[in-house]
Amino acid sequence: MPNYAVGHKTPDSDSICSAIALSYLKTTLGEETLPARLGELSPETMFILDKFGFEQPELKTSFAGEGIYIVDHSDRIQGPDDIDEATILGIIDHHKLGDITTSTPLEIWVRPVGCTNTIIKMMYDFYDVDIPKNIAGAMLCAILSDTVIFKSPTCTTADLKCVEALAEIAGIEDPKALGMEMFEVKSAVLGTPIRDLVLRDFKDFNMHGNLVGIGQLEVLDLAIFDEMKPELVVDIAKLKAEGNRHTVLLLLTDIMKEGSEMLVISDKADLTEKAYGIATVDGKVWLDGVLSRKKQVVPPLQDSLV
Ligand code: MG
Ligand code: MG
Ligand code: MG
Repeated sequence: MPNYAVGHKTPDSDSICSAIALSYLKTTLGEETLPARLGELSPETMFILDKFGFEQPELKTSFAGEGIYIVDHSDRIQGPDDIDEATILGIIDHHKLGDITTSTPLEIWVRPVGCTNTIIKMMYDFYDVDIPKNIAGAMLCAILSDTVIFKSPTCTTADLKCVEALAEIAGIEDPKALGMEMFEVKSAVLGTPIRDLVLRDFKDFNMHGNLVGIGQLEVLDLAIFDEMKPELVVDIAKLKAEGNRHTVLLLLTDIMKEGSEMLVISDKADLTEKAYGIATVDGKVWLDGVLSRKKQVVPPLQDSLV
């Protein structure tokens, strides 16, 4: 029976590309491993898979009785629902350490870098396995996506060096241009159903017993949201009620202006004032310089909800 490598719910490009890259590495090392996904793929991820000739990983949401590698998360709420019935063989991640625990020994590679694929490149080097050209291309794209083409404060020297090495292997001359092409695909939000947009890159967090959902849409120009903003606000309010959430936030991130407009629906009226020092006006707040959910949005919020 093969093992599986699986990323978080509402999979992003890092979750998918790291599942693919890790599966190849483990299989090459003699441990048959298949990539899986917990949900539908975004246009950005489809672009990457098309470009480098990959099929979508298998849609698989139940892992009871199977061996799994968890990639790109370590929070139970973001993983497979029956994670407790699976054997967790390893965790490869670049987020805050979550609440997944195991009953058997496991392999853990957790590093404070910009992308899980940067860590997987370290694993390839450690195990001395060559990275195939197409896998290198997919890994490179995931790093460009997670680091917002190196602009995110989560981006480290390790990520930059990794992209350099992967570009060499994949024969990509201008990684930044490829990154822009990817963000153009990501910015084409017009015509997408509102709920699909809200959930496109959405994560739930358990913050001291409060369920907090945070979505993020990263685009080249926020003006694209001007007309749909009222609908987005209505929809995140619905989502809050449906899921019994304490708070739902939607980050509209402008990667050129390098900041995010946050749409806020919360049980706590002074939420952003307490967490970020800026009051929400009409359900909105502009957070200058904020590009990263994991590094700039989640930690102060979690601290403020103690
Ligand atoms: Mg991710
Ligand atoms: Mg990631
Ligand atoms: Mg992201």
